[in-house]
Amino acid sequence: MPKHIVSGLKYLTAVELIRKGLSQKEVAKILEMDRSTVSHYLNGRNLSWNSIEVAEIITKFCPKDFLTLTYALLNNSEKTRIIVKTCSKGNYQAKVEETCIGCGLCADTCLMNAIVLDDLKAQIDSNWCCGCLMCRDVCPTNSIKILEVEDGC
Ligand code: SF4
Ligand code: SF4
Repeated sequence: MPKHIVSGLKYLTAVELIRKGLSQKEVAKILEMDRSTVSHYLNGRNLSWNSIEVAEIITKFCPKDFLTLTYALLNNSEKTRIIVKTCSKGNYQAKVEETCIGCGLCADTCLMNAIVLDDLKAQIDSNWCCGCLMCRDVCPTNSIKILEVEDGC
């Protein structure tokens, strides 16, 4: 079953990327799939509706559960961040306060790979933030603020 859920998540991601104007070739490259498989997916072949329904339910989980479950299913950071960011329901603005001590716990925690340390201070790329709040919760100095700014896809 996990394999089928992954297929459903890839299907939803492919549909959304096509809706955003990407070509089937570009989608295939991003999801590391054959172009023909993407085409089959988009035409409803090689995929059960049950897989799509389960995947749709997962995308409606809270951001943390959506992210951690997708990562557990895929065991692949790059594909996880693409699927989660493409299908996430919200957009987030992340901010690091001056109280950051550069411990790096947030960067180690972020499954979206949105955080780097620069000159012993955390920098968050909001474009890749899915609002899971795991960095905020792990920060020993309470230096991270995550704000939901608008609805996404
Ligand atoms: S966990 Fe907090 S203190 Fe540590 S690097 Fe991240 S923002 Fe800075
Ligand atoms: S809330 Fe923090 S841990 Fe979660 S995706 Fe955004 S930057 Fe990464």
